[in-house]
Amino acid sequence: MNKSWAIVNKILPFSCVDGPGNRLVIFLQGCNFRCLNCHNPYTISLCKDCGDCVNACPYKALRFNNHRVVWQTSVCQQCDTCINTCVHHSTPMTYKYSVDDLLITIRKYLPFLNGITLSGGEATMQLPFVEKLFSAIKQTNDLKHLTCFIDSNGYLAKTGWQKVENNMDGAMIDLKAWNNDVHKSLTGRDNLRVKKTIKYLAKINKLYEVRFLIIPEHTDLQDNAENIAKFLIDLDPNIRIRINAFHNHGVHGIAKTWQSASKQQIELFAQQLKQSGFKQITLPPVYL
Ligand code: SF4
Ligand code: SF4
Repeated sequence: MNKSWAIVNKILPFSCVDGPGNRLVIFLQGCNFRCLNCHNPYTISLCKDCGDCVNACPYKALRFNNHRVVWQTSVCQQCDTCINTCVHHSTPMTYKYSVDDLLITIRKYLPFLNGITLSGGEATMQLPFVEKLFSAIKQTNDLKHLTCFIDSNGYLAKTGWQKVENNMDGAMIDLKAWNNDVHKSLTGRDNLRVKKTIKYLAKINKLYEVRFLIIPEHTDLQDNAENIAKFLIDLDPNIRIRINAFHNHGVHGIAKTWQSASKQQIELFAQQLKQSGFKQITLPPVYL
């Protein structure tokens, strides 16, 4: 199925942490992981139009039209009651963008941009749209200098990456746990495909960065620094690595009770990787 529009949760006009240079980041709605530590669980599902949030909205910014929930942005007060009401991990506050709509948005910020990044949710859940958008950018004279990146959980199969790889300049991939059972318990999915993605993208020179989130007592990355280093160094000794620190502020459910990662824990993991020869390691700018 070829989609000519996307369900977008949010657009960030400028970011310097989502790939090289200054980037416009488009957060697509929908994810195939169910991470216990998700900071934005309302980005997980597409709205089912069940209507539970319509009456809950204290400002009457939601209504039904032809069995669809309609969000009136001009009335919305951003109180988040709808998000907190939704039991489906969704939100009525999304936007429908066509490829042409997004090209117009990108042009607004064009003089300041090095590229665009598709994030989420999980951007590859809307792969036909990603294909079309990247292809449109690369075929448009005033836009083709922009680099096109994807920030992904890595679950997409090789056949999926092959659909976008010609127009994609790079991808940032999260490896959330080293052992499959730990990965499954944290995300609901196995990590075999994630490791395959990392290998495949490294092979075709499209792996921009591998990302690790350290959650004390819950991720097993800290205990497997040697295994991780061996896995990555065999692929590319110059690989970029970004280490992020879990913080429990703003998470939901059980993860609220989890301990935040300390500077010391992050630096220890980084040190273990550095000993294996990695030089391009980015650490969190702040700790909570
Ligand atoms: S955030 Fe949701 S509940 Fe609050 S005003 Fe906007 S639509 Fe209504
Ligand atoms: S956002 Fe959630 S509660 Fe509101 S209509 Fe959609 S699925 Fe139902």
